[in-house]
Amino acid sequence: MNINEKMEKITSLCKRRGFIFQSSEIYGGMNGCWDYGPVGTELKKNIKNLWWKDIVQMHDNVVGMDASIIMHPRIWEASGHVANFKDDMIDCKKCKKRYRADHVQTETCPECGGEFTPPRPFNLMFKTYVGALEDAASAAYLRPETAQAIFAQYLTVLNCSRQRIPFGIAQIGKSFRNEITPRNFTFRSREFEQMELEFFVAPGTDEKWNEYWIDRRINWYKNIGIHSERLRIREHEKDELAHYAKSCVDVEYEFPFGWQELEGIANRSDFDLSQHQQYSGKKMLYKDDLEKKEFVPWVIETSAGVDRILLTLLADAYEEEQLEKNTRVVLRFSHKIAPIKTAVFPLFKKPALKELAKKINDDLKKVTTTFYDEIGSVGKRYRRQDEIGTPYCVTVDYESLEDNAVTVRFRDSMKQERISLGSLVSFILDKLAQ
Ligand SMILES: [Zn+2]
Repeated sequence: MNINEKMEKITSLCKRRGFIFQSSEIYGGMNGCWDYGPVGTELKKNIKNLWWKDIVQMHDNVVGMDASIIMHPRIWEASGHVANFKDDMIDCKKCKKRYRADHVQTETCPECGGEFTPPRPFNLMFKTYVGALEDAASAAYLRPETAQAIFAQYLTVLNCSRQRIPFGIAQIGKSFRNEITPRNFTFRSREFEQMELEFFVAPGTDEKWNEYWIDRRINWYKNIGIHSERLRIREHEKDELAHYAKSCVDVEYEFPFGWQELEGIANRSDFDLSQHQQYSGKKMLYKDDLEKKEFVPWVIETSAGVDRILLTLLADAYEEEQLEKNTRVVLRFSHKIAPIKTAVFPLFKKPALKELAKKINDDLKKVTTTFYDEIGSVGKRYRRQDEIGTPYCVTVDYESLEDNAVTVRFRDSMKQERISLGSLVSFILDKLAQ
């Protein structure tokens, strides 16, 4: 399979099985925007829940917040986004197509061979107006990252949550960037969801905490089932470091279209809090009563994209398996991440079989995510579940009415096992916990 072929297959699977659709498709689509379907929504929820569990629930000194998307515009002056959050763009003089300068390797337009304009800076923030007047005084931005709200509220959160430094604030939420050339399916989108942690530390302890969070994050990716040989840590060279960062590493994944960033882990020094202190005129000092000292904390940031991780999971789990007579497409998601854990089928659409299958489905519903399906041949129903990565299928047949047992079919091996009805739920729960 070549690169484009694999991405095309994943894209068409996403549409066919309800992971991801083009936004506003009936109107011709909205470039760089995507909608998640029923299965995609479950998958996304699993990613966010597993992140939240590892970052917030598993750390006594990390708490959550959920900030507003539109904030005071001065925030983006302090953060440097108004002045610096720009990409150079170039236009083709002939066909008028616009490109990001660093995405074009050719001297002339790849579409029509036309000449380019000189590069011009283009701010990536979406601008909007708040209130009834559309004037400069009412201009605001959709946030291009969730981090700044955390910096602006860090003292309020610290004080109300009875924390002491070192401590962190985590947030999951939508961010918006007006990318000049969205591309690679959902990899570079204009609207996307971030999972960010800002971890506040005393100066001098920053390197230790930076190491801690790098380890923690790379292990998280392995724990949700991503092949470790397709993961790597890449340290930023001095010349690619943002001006405020003391150091930065990317967690990268080897996509069909090459190694790409999933997450950045940066030592941001005291840049952000000092900037907000200067622009707001409010003290951002942390007072350590026990050690009798005060300082502006340093920040270690972990910043991951939900949509990118979801695309990673799809690319990583996608397999075409050659069987005797044909090939089957299977998503080998780990149990933790699989959007639907079980599916229940009556072998035939007979009332007695349907009734029992629905009862089993109702029992499973209470403990996991399950899907009932009675349409089409059982072979086709298995294949549909393989394509969304459901680990276990349960089939009710005529014998079930006699022996009170059902057939459990395993996604990965396609093996089948007869399990008694009385122990089915615990059998499934045991398997899912492995
Ligand atoms: Zn052109």
